[in-house]
Amino acid sequence: MTPGRRIRVRGQVQGVGFRPFVWQLATRMGLSGEVLNDPEGVLIHVMGTGLDEFEATLRSQAPPLARVDALESVPHRFLQPLQGFFITASTGKGAQTSVTPDAATCPDCLAEILDPGQRRFGYAFANCTQCGPRFSILRGLPYDRSQTSMAGFQICADCAAEYGNPADRRFHAQPIACPRCGPRLWLEAEGQEMAGDAILGAALRLRVGNILAIKGLGGFHLACDARDSAAIARLRQRKHRPAKPFAMMGTAAMVAAYARVSDAESQLMADPAAPIVLLTPLGVSLPENIAPGMLTHGWMLPYTPLHHLLLVAFGGPLVMTSGNLSGEPQVIDNDEARQKLGRFADAFLLHDRDIMRRLDDGVERILPSGPMILRRGRGRVPATLPLPPGFGGARQILAYGGQMKSAICLIKDGRALLSHHLGDLDDALAWQEFQKADADYAQLFDHAPEIIACDRHPGYRTSVHAKQRGENLALVEVQHHHAHLAAAMGDAGWPRAAGPVAGIILDGMGLGDDGSIWGGEVLLGDYRAVARVTHLVAAALPGGDAANRAPWRNLLARLDAAGLGELATRLLADRPLSTLRRAIASGVNAPLSSSAGRLFDAVAAALGLVRETQSFEGEAAMALEALATEMDAPPYPFLQTSAGIDPAPMFHALAHDLATGTTPQRIAARFHAGLARAFTEPARKLVESGRAHAVALSGGCFQNATLLRFCLQDLAGLQVLVHHRTPANDGGLAFGQALVAAARDAAGEVE
Ligand code: ZN
Ligand code: ZN
Ligand code: FE
Repeated sequence: MTPGRRIRVRGQVQGVGFRPFVWQLATRMGLSGEVLNDPEGVLIHVMGTGLDEFEATLRSQAPPLARVDALESVPHRFLQPLQGFFITASTGKGAQTSVTPDAATCPDCLAEILDPGQRRFGYAFANCTQCGPRFSILRGLPYDRSQTSMAGFQICADCAAEYGNPADRRFHAQPIACPRCGPRLWLEAEGQEMAGDAILGAALRLRVGNILAIKGLGGFHLACDARDSAAIARLRQRKHRPAKPFAMMGTAAMVAAYARVSDAESQLMADPAAPIVLLTPLGVSLPENIAPGMLTHGWMLPYTPLHHLLLVAFGGPLVMTSGNLSGEPQVIDNDEARQKLGRFADAFLLHDRDIMRRLDDGVERILPSGPMILRRGRGRVPATLPLPPGFGGARQILAYGGQMKSAICLIKDGRALLSHHLGDLDDALAWQEFQKADADYAQLFDHAPEIIACDRHPGYRTSVHAKQRGENLALVEVQHHHAHLAAAMGDAGWPRAAGPVAGIILDGMGLGDDGSIWGGEVLLGDYRAVARVTHLVAAALPGGDAANRAPWRNLLARLDAAGLGELATRLLADRPLSTLRRAIASGVNAPLSSSAGRLFDAVAAALGLVRETQSFEGEAAMALEALATEMDAPPYPFLQTSAGIDPAPMFHALAHDLATGTTPQRIAARFHAGLARAFTEPARKLVESGRAHAVALSGGCFQNATLLRFCLQDLAGLQVLVHHRTPANDGGLAFGQALVAAARDAAGEVE
């Protein structure tokens, strides 16, 4: 018998070129043995000399898309000495069951499509084991070509040779394609396919100000020249999208010409997920109507060969916004695009590889606390997140999230899968999409939940749906801000048994335990349960839902409550104040709310920012953040009372600043600093008195870099738990709900 080792590799190691990597390494080192995929990951039997170095290299030089979670090595006795190293056929049911996220074009493929000497020169669908479409083309498992939208393309002899050669980087690349056998690109206008090169034709049209509908990886984009304000204005007008920022796509060099890019930001942009990253524009030259009044621009690098070729041909940055009707999910199908986007687009850049899964571009940002995912999108799913220590034995749990920025979360085998962004469920098509994703994820991950978690709000579509499922599933309803808190704790890896933390939750809105609307809370507790320690003193939302859209209504309520009614009358003279004041006094259609989001709206309105109607959620708060650049502005005072955190003194100071001509920049900064101070003070006390062991920050307001920076400053010296891989906004709710359900289950509280 010949001694050797049996090495088990766990993590994201299938479909990412891991076996050929092992084969190449072993062959180079003169080792013998075999490597194969099985249901647990990759299994290696190896013998020869230098096995320690072999193992170290497996970890340190794994292919770019691989993620090695664990490498377990035990002695293994071979019955007879082997000659050579082999890739053995996969064994067992469940082999090849894991799917990796879609990945941006790798440097090797990029070099190929730009090299006239290569057979894939100029080819828009080149890919390899280190890049290309994955989840977006997947029909079902196991992950192989016949189960993807590449199934209909008959592989040619050249591609087949690459596919079968372990020394080639296309060894077992399921979406392998070339101009001879793969998908085809064409340009279409007025219902006709245009003659000539599609990329050049598209670039020419963009150059004269046309708007193009472009079929991408996870959906359609609408594109135009990012330097052409007339084209952008036309796009805004056609899309009925007056102000919401447009994302842009450019090569690294183009981005660097228009935005300040830190090392962390450039690294994030170059991630295989290729998210939209929010960057600070340099003071130059892009039209204001790309992102009116915003401090940041959303940029992404080209992430498919099609995008690379188009940018090379066009030679400048492009607006790339999702191709959809307002509020609806992104279009993914050619016919659907012709029908729905025909009124926006002058021409279509189409191809014949079907998109099986609608995946929006992700949005991420480098914040003072590090990177944060604001919207989980293409490139981040279906990757999973580890559960914090103490959750290893959790049963299978499904959590449905909220109503806006919806996403679902599945827990299984000690890991959590937080889905991609599924949209705002007020829209009927988004709701359909949500239900489809629910069934789809369950099937793909062979998920059979025993517990379902949802928000406590009875009116959310997701809550109704959770209750209707029945099926003997245990139902756990989780208070909105407890879920936010748990999500931040879980994201930071806070162990289940590590004790209580103080949660500062600054949010839009969620239903509170007392039936009122919460959103400015200091909570104390753990995954299982929380108490509300203090909160923003509530104010009326005059007009109910209308107050969420109209910042001036919140200004009126807050100024009146602060005894500054005269100022309100002066600032809002043109508004129907007496009607609203009657509503507030009688409490009719004027529910009470402690929402921090609405406080941002009120302060923005006081400065005349987005006073009337927000055209998208968070518009007023983002405009206020954009002004708040002074980091040494003295904080406005808030009053800590037994009834909560009272902003009245803040409004008095603000009124004084307005009267004395203080700049809006300084006022905005003083507000951010004051709000941070008002909430960090009680949180710090909870830690210093020993009642809490750390401070967690969550809720939609924590996408705000300035607010976050002030909070971190105030909390210096304490352990602070912040979101990184899950959104602080409602996109992270489902993750928190699932953890709360698991913690209650572990405590024996779930039937
Ligand atoms: Zn590649
Ligand atoms: Zn081919
Ligand atoms: Fe929320």
